[in-house]
Amino acid sequence: MKFAANLKCNHTRASFKQYAQILDENLSSNDDVIVFAPFTAFEGEKHKFTLGAQNFYPCENGAFTGEIGKAMLDEFGINCVLIGHSERREVLGECEEMLKAKFEFAVKNGWHIVYCIGESLEINEAGDTKEFLKKQLENIDLGYLNLTIAYEPIWAIGTGKSATNEQIAEILDFLSTLTTAPLLYGGSVNAKNIAQIAQIKSCKGVLVGTASWDAHNFLNLIKALSRE
Ligand code: PEP
Repeated sequence: MKFAANLKCNHTRASFKQYAQILDENLSSNDDVIVFAPFTAFEGEKHKFTLGAQNFYPCENGAFTGEIGKAMLDEFGINCVLIGHSERREVLGECEEMLKAKFEFAVKNGWHIVYCIGESLEINEAGDTKEFLKKQLENIDLGYLNLTIAYEPIWAIGTGKSATNEQIAEILDFLSTLTTAPLLYGGSVNAKNIAQIAQIKSCKGVLVGTASWDAHNFLNLIKALSRE
């Protein structure tokens, strides 16, 4: 199982230093963990987890006020990026055209991409989820070898209400007909539901928000599986 933590707009440079230290002291070489940390926490140190970028602008550098390009990520050895998170789509207004540009830029650089897709409650209740997700994947090369896809229903993100195993399995099985990329589930994953989610055959890991912000909570979630 792959465990990806999305720290979002949480953790200062100082608090992330402690966070990383706790993970480094407790992760084993078998644990497959990515942490998408805020830019200000980057230090260029080696960790037992992969440090990833929550965002980037598809450029080397240039006149893009407030953005971070490849030159800045290279300085910290970052080659793993999150693209398409619903908060960037919905709150920050990232459109398909921008996501396509980011995807293509990341592919050109051979970066590991965790690409997020997911439907709103309205789409889910209308029974249009599969069609919607298929459309969200139209702009990207599903054969890219360094691609991981995270299915994150928007209604399950940060709500404490995870999708059921049946719902997750149905969607991941559907996505498996479109791509051989490893599939993650994200949406209110925690130490209590991780064991159940891990039983879903087509689920190769989880993308975790809230339950990853505290290093010990995140470790509990990872270790909940190794204790089984
Ligand atoms: C996320 O933001 O990617 C996420 C899955 O958040 P949470 O775990 O809090 O639902």
